Amino acid sequence: MRIAVTGGAGFLGSHLCDRLLKDGHQVVAVDNFITGRPSNIAHLAGQNDIQFIEHDVSRFIDIEGHVDFVMHLASPASPVDFERYPIQILKVGALGTHNALGLAKAKGAGFFLASTSEVYGDPLVNPQPESYWGNVNPVGIRGVYDEAKRFAEAITMAYHRYHGVDTRIVRIFNTYGPRMRVDDGRVMPSFISQAMRGEPLTVYGEGQQTRSFCYYQDLIEGFVRLVHSGEHFPVNIGNGNEITILELAQTIIRVIGSSSQIVYKPLPQDDPRLRRPDVSRAERILGWTATVSLEEGVRKTVEYFKTNERI
Ligand code: NAD
Ligand code: UDP
Repeated sequence: MRIAVTGGAGFLGSHLCDRLLKDGHQVVAVDNFITGRPSNIAHLAGQNDIQFIEHDVSRFIDIEGHVDFVMHLASPASPVDFERYPIQILKVGALGTHNALGLAKAKGAGFFLASTSEVYGDPLVNPQPESYWGNVNPVGIRGVYDEAKRFAEAITMAYHRYHGVDTRIVRIFNTYGPRMRVDDGRVMPSFISQAMRGEPLTVYGEGQQTRSFCYYQDLIEGFVRLVHSGEHFPVNIGNGNEITILELAQTIIRVIGSSSQIVYKPLPQDDPRLRRPDVSRAERILGWTATVSLEEGVRKTVEYFKTNERI
C-alpha cells in the first residue's frame, strides 16, 4: 500500500514509518515538527519508498498520486503542551482530522485515527472499556486535548457513516520508548532522565495516581493488526499492568541503579487518578496482547537515551 502518515516525525509516527517500510509499503510522512524532530526519520533519508512533506495538517493536505491509507497521528501529546500549544492542539484534532479524512475520501483510501485514553478523562470506571463514555472537564487545562480527540472520533465515525470511508480508531494508553524527547514533559522520559542524571525524581501529588505503560513495539503491532481488521469502532491498545506513579519512580531508580531521591510536587489540575485499559476487545478482535515488561522497556529506553541524547 501507499500510506500517508501524519505526525510521521514524532515518537510513534516515526516508529510506524519504520514498521510500514519493513512490511513493504510506501510511506508519505507529513509533519510540521511542532513536537517531532527531523532526527527521528533521518535514518530513512534516501530510501526510495519514503517521501517526506513538511506541512501543517491543520491546513489543506495536498499529496500527489494515489494513497491507500491515511494514518493520522499528528498532534502534540504531552500534558505540558496542553498549556503551551492549546490552540494548535484543538486545530489539529478538529481541522487536521477533517483534512486527513478529506484526503482519505478524495483518494478512496482507508483512514486510521490515533485517539487516546484521554477521551475517558478522569475515569469513574476502572479498567476502562471502550463502552465507557468518560468523565471529561471540557474547560480544564486538559480539555483542549481531550475534547479535540473526542471531536476527532466523532468526525471519523461521521465520515464512516455518511461518506462510507473505511475507518479505524485506536485509543492509545500511555506508551513510551526510544525517540521520546528527554524534555517531552511526559513522565517516562522525565523520570528516566532524572534518574540517569542522579537528580530527584519529581513525583506529582502523592504519586498514588495510576497509569499502565505500554512499550512502543507492542503498540505498533496493535496498529498494524487494527488496519487489517476492518473494525470501525474504537479499540483500546495499552498494557494492562497498572502501577502508581510512585511505584514507577521506584522501579526506574532500581532498574537504572540510580542514587536519585524522590521529591513531591503539586498535582496538576484534572490529572486522572486512575488509568488502565480494558484490552479484551483488542485480544478478541485483533488477537493482540502486550508482551514487553516494564523493566525490559525501561532498560531499552535507557540504552537509547545513553547513545542518542545529551543527558
Ligand atoms: P509526538 O509529539 O512525538 O508526535 C506527534 C507528531 O505530530 C510530532 O512529530 C508533531 O510535530 C506532529 N504534529 C503535531 N501537530 C501537527 C500539525 N498540525 N501538522 C503536522 N504535524 C503535526 O507524540 P506521540 O506520542 O508520538 O503521539 C502521536 C499520536 O499518538 C498523537 O496523536 C497522540 O495524541 C497519540 N497518543 C499518544 C500517546 C502516547 O502515550 N505516546 C497516548 C495517547 C495518544
Ligand atoms: N508525573 C509526575 N512527574 C512528572 C511528570 C508526570 O509525577 O515529572 C505524573 C503526572 O502527574 C501523571 C502521570 O505522571 O499523573 C503521567 O503523566 P504524563 O505526563 O506522562 O501523561 P498523562 O498520563 O497524565 O497524560
